[in-house]
Formats: sequence, structure tokens, C-alpha cells
Amino acid sequence: MLKVVKFGGSSLADAAQFKKVADIIKAEAERRYVVPSAPGKRFKDDTKVTDMLYTCYDMAARGEDINEYFSAIEARYNGIIAELGLDFSLEDDFHLIKNAFIHKAGRDFAASRGEYLNGKILARYLGFDFIDAAEVIFFNDNGLFDSERTNTVLSEVLKQHEYAVIPGFYGSMPNDTIKTFSRGGSDITGSIVARAAECDIYENWTDVDGFLMADPRIVDSPRVINEITYRELRELSYMGATVLHEDAIFPVRIAGIPINIRNTNNPEAHGTFIVSSSDKYDTGNVITGVAGKKGFSVLTIEKDMMNAEVGFGRRVLEVLETNGICFEHLPSGIDNMSIILNTHELEGKREAIKTGICRHVNPETLEIEDGLALVAVVGRAMVKAKGTAARVFKAISGAGINIRMIDQGSSEISIIVGVEEADFEDALRAIYQEFVY
Ligand code: ASP
Repeated sequence: MLKVVKFGGSSLADAAQFKKVADIIKAEAERRYVVPSAPGKRFKDDTKVTDMLYTCYDMAARGEDINEYFSAIEARYNGIIAELGLDFSLEDDFHLIKNAFIHKAGRDFAASRGEYLNGKILARYLGFDFIDAAEVIFFNDNGLFDSERTNTVLSEVLKQHEYAVIPGFYGSMPNDTIKTFSRGGSDITGSIVARAAECDIYENWTDVDGFLMADPRIVDSPRVINEITYRELRELSYMGATVLHEDAIFPVRIAGIPINIRNTNNPEAHGTFIVSSSDKYDTGNVITGVAGKKGFSVLTIEKDMMNAEVGFGRRVLEVLETNGICFEHLPSGIDNMSIILNTHELEGKREAIKTGICRHVNPETLEIEDGLALVAVVGRAMVKAKGTAARVFKAISGAGINIRMIDQGSSEISIIVGVEEADFEDALRAIYQEFVY
């Protein structure tokens, strides 16, 4: 058995958190490869070290004096080192990094130092080897992650280290400069290491008990999902549910490695398992989760005999394409077609779209309405359970809410419902209550 473990910023925000992390790692000898984030927030209004590094770098780039601000960053690390009682210093690194800031080594380099320095402390504290991610994680000339080169090199390097810390979030470009993934990218590094190590489980330690069935800001104490498939997770994350970086799914998915989301502050909880497929269903619920987002617009086109007009849909979509807009959903009827778009995509382009569509397909009516929210009800068990759609609609209408759009993907793992933005929270609660309570 081999486990790759990733710890998020809040799990490594201070020395007390470092101790919890070490206890977790030492509790199981199979937790051999560790991927840390940079120190996160210690309390609500605290600043993440990554954000401090960006700010500090921007100050340097503007030619401002960074001495004081840089000292505050050093203090975060020195505080951890001192409280852990380590006989260890990062002074040489601080010196090099500060100089690199002044000589404009790049924003990505700056941000990556958060993980780099934290990784060094953690390796020292655990007595593990330190592997610089710049030597094992690669991007190509276009700045895209080079998965195959990385996998080949990284799997060889890992074989030479029984226990190691590999900092998250960054890698290197062919010209040896540092590049980071997008924010929250240590999750991706963890997944890449998991694949290269061919481990049995990728544990992703964070500060919640797992992936929740609904947003806790909307639904009161939602249940934790015990098991979710990658596809269900994609649907829920796309709709705004976050715990894990979306791109973290791909490397482990290729290798069929399950991800286990765990809570550093409550290690007893078994967390959420993200798996490639499963026929186990949680607690008898038909749905796995419900999530949603506001900020959509519906473009409705009506034209008699539209369905008999060859190329109608293509011509409409071509107008969107020319304007550089992608659409989210496309429910259509016999004589009408609705296109659901992200409202912000329409900015400055409304007139061009209207004129383009009128010119290309000459519709009877054409309307763009804003203020739509989408709710996705997701569950692999829905395929087998009869009447799920009816229950969703009953719950929503029972709450006195008007449904503006319905879209059930052919995969049948999700039903998407469009409601007015003002009804969004109520709709989500109504659905949760129908299926979970
Ligand atoms: N430290 C980086 C961030 O704040 C990456 C991460 O934590 O995953 O985005």
C-alpha cells in the first residue's frame, strides 16, 4: 500500500497545524510522498503567504522598497521554524529570493516560493527528502503542463526516495524558469505525484470533513458525500462546488487512483472518496449532490417551421462563434431554441449578436433575458430511480418557484433547472429537502 498525501494551506498555516500534519503522516508508514501548499490563513482576516508574495513582487516590480513587507513573509516561516524547535534556517533562501524579486524573476517564481519554503520546513520536520518540483514537473514552450515528460521523470526520481516532500503549485519551463498552475494548484501537483508513484490512494487533506451535498452557506449542515464519481464531481464543480481544483482530477483519473478528501482538523472522519465508478449509493439518497450558479442569460429565438430549416442551428451558433462566445446549454423545441449563456460573456456584444442572428436566420422573435440561475441536481443513481425528475419539479414548484428551463443530459447523471436568480437559494433548499431529509 502506498499513499500520496497533499496538505492545503490552512493545514500548514502555523506550527500547531504542522504538528497535526506530522501526526497524520507518521500514523501510517504508507504515507510516503507529501505535497504541501504554502502557509494559508491562520484566522479569518489573515493573509495567505501566496498573496503576500504576489503583493511583494508587484511592489518590487514597481520599484518600491520591499524590505519591510518581505520581512513579514520571512516572519511567517521563522515563526513556524522556531515553534517547531527546528535547528534550521532559511536565511540563505530568503536572501536569494529577495534578490530575485528585485531583479524581476517573474510573478510565478515569486508565488512558487510559498510552497518551496514550506516544503523545505516540512521535509526537515518529518525527516523526509526534499524534491524540488522544478526538477520533476514540466511545462512545455506554450506554458501547458507536459504530463508525459513529467510522468516519466517523476516516476524515476520517486523510486530513488522512500519518503519525500514535493512542494505543490509549480514546475519549470523548458528555459528553466518557474511556472505555476492556476490558484489552488497544489491539488494538481498532488494528483501528478499520485499518478507517477502509482499509489493506491491520493489523500487530499483540507479543512472540511469532505465534499458536501450542498453549499453550507445555503443549506443548513448539509451531509458529507461518502463516495462520488469523477463525472459527478465534474458536474458539481462546474456548478460552483469547490473543495478540489478541477484539473486535479485528470492525472489520477488516467491511472484509476481514488482521491480521498480528508480533514486535518478532524482526522477521524473518513471523508469523501472520489472514484472512477461506483455502484454503492450513499445513505439511500438518489442524488449525490446539488449545486448551482447565478449569472446566466437566455437567448430565445422563435421561428415557425424552424425544425424543418436545414442548418438553422449551425447558423445561430456561428454568430456566437464569430463573437467569441461559448454557450452552456441549448434546450430547443419545434419552433424555438433557447441558448443559455454566461451573462458576463455578453458584455459589449449584445447588439452584434442580435444583428448577426437576425441577418443569418431571420427569426420572428429574438430576446435576451438576464437574471437566470442554474441548479444542477447530480447523481449516478438517478438513471435507475424512476420519477426523479418529477420529484425535482415537485420540490421546486412546491416552494412556489417558477421553472424557466429544464435540461437533462443524455448521460442522466444530472438534471439542470433554470430559475430566477431571486429564487435560487430557495430552489436549492427545496431540492435538498426533498431528497435528503
Ligand atoms: N498556494 C497556492 C494558492 O494559494 C496554491 C495552493 O494552495 O494550492 O493558490
